[in-house]
Amino acid sequence: MPDPILLWFRRDLRLADHPMLAEAMETGGPLIPVFLHDEVVEGQGAAPRFRLGLSVESFARDLDAVGAKLILRRGRALDSLRALCAETGARAVWWSRAYDPDARARDAEVMAGLDAEGIETRDFPGHLLFEPDSVETKTGGYYKVYTPYMKAVRDRLPDAPLAPPARLPAPESWPQSDRLDDWHMARGMNRGGAVVAKYLVVGERAARDRLDRFVAQRIADYAIARDRPDIEGTSGLSENLTYGEISIHACYRAALAAREAGAEGAEHFRKELVWRDFAYHLLHHTPRLISRNWRAEWDRFPWSEDGDSAEATAWKRGRTGMALVDAAMRELYATGRMHNRARMITGSYLTKHLQTHWKIGHDWFADCLVDWDPANNALGWQWIAGSGPDAAPYFRVYNPVSQAEKFDPEGAYRRAWIAEGQADPPQTARDFLAAAPRAWGLSATMPYPEPIVGAAEGRDRALSAYATLRGRA
Ligand code: FAD
Repeated sequence: MPDPILLWFRRDLRLADHPMLAEAMETGGPLIPVFLHDEVVEGQGAAPRFRLGLSVESFARDLDAVGAKLILRRGRALDSLRALCAETGARAVWWSRAYDPDARARDAEVMAGLDAEGIETRDFPGHLLFEPDSVETKTGGYYKVYTPYMKAVRDRLPDAPLAPPARLPAPESWPQSDRLDDWHMARGMNRGGAVVAKYLVVGERAARDRLDRFVAQRIADYAIARDRPDIEGTSGLSENLTYGEISIHACYRAALAAREAGAEGAEHFRKELVWRDFAYHLLHHTPRLISRNWRAEWDRFPWSEDGDSAEATAWKRGRTGMALVDAAMRELYATGRMHNRARMITGSYLTKHLQTHWKIGHDWFADCLVDWDPANNALGWQWIAGSGPDAAPYFRVYNPVSQAEKFDPEGAYRRAWIAEGQADPPQTARDFLAAAPRAWGLSATMPYPEPIVGAAEGRDRALSAYATLRGRA
């Protein structure tokens, strides 16, 4: 029997449309799927790690159905893979490429370490539509602005579908595996997983159904409905895309097919999928996107960097007194999700009205979002703060009151999440109160606060700080 190949799964927890898996199947040799609780998983926020655990559980079941096992190991990636190679006789380790700085550093270390021992390492595409280096400006550089990026990739086609394997060739014997329960992936979720879990859609089959339902029922109206947090107008697929439960190519093919069939919103949906690739393109070329102001002149901006200030704390707990901001922050805490428009409004309120550094919001989202994505989160925050390469200008301050009137006209979204003042609050608002730590001291009967910073006052504050920056620039 040929030596087995270790297939190291990370953010690619699916069987269909999987370039690495498809090529591994062609070798005909035994395959050992592996998932590692490594230094990168260790560094993740509470909600993404909890959600990742559910994805791993679901993927292990899917592998079981095709005659394979998902071998789990905990520890530094290089150590775990070395040990597994020694135990199984594997002479090759394959994985799907990652693009964020932490994962890249880990992968470089693994590659160097295994190569030195004569173990073949190969990385594959699969997480993105187009590899970051494959899209270049005319002068051979990278794109800093979305619209020309979109123009450059507009006529490229997605990859053809790759069928899921019917059965994986198994090794003679399976190496020992950790038990997922022993990893306590829900640790750090002081709100417990139970509340958030109600709102999740986990696994490859559920992701595929979600895409099909979206295309059948909502894609036609997407261009307008996508802006309304009070209705279900978007696909919800970010939660699945981030763990690779569905491939971006499958989503893209669905968008193109719907457009071909005359669905009006399909082109807009396609453009959003390209935003995700664009975020990775930028992160690949400028890893600082994740950790520093992309534009260095913003280092002089007088942000508060205190994540525990009264203002930042009120923002995190949904007690700013700005109802749309609070509704959104509560949705985030109870469900691990937040509508895109609400992400922009809460981001604007934090960085402009509250004059707080986008990093504080970025890190809070990274701890709370079940769809946390290193590239999208970083680009989203730098975009809304004004410090990014392709950013909304800082002086474009979202007014949380008029935004609420426009995008939540009947107040349904606000009522869904804010219990205070309602005689019989809906389940969603009660879920938030159930999820919130007791130490926050929240209850449905307490008075709802006055705005900590009013809409007009916050705008003035933001604009005068901005004038200072410009003056010194
Ligand atoms: P749909 O509207 O159905 O869009 C389909 C897909 O397109 C999404 O799943 C996503 O992969 C991609 N997409 C849509 N909008 C964007 C966008 N603005 N930028 C990049 N890709 C996009 N998205 C994440 O996936 N993870 C994050 O951690 C994240 N953090 C964000 C933080 C801020 C401050 C902001 C402003 C945006 C952030 N986004 C993030 C982008 C966006 O809000 C979400 O992708 C979107 O809300 C997901 O919902 P959906 O799947 O229903 O999207």
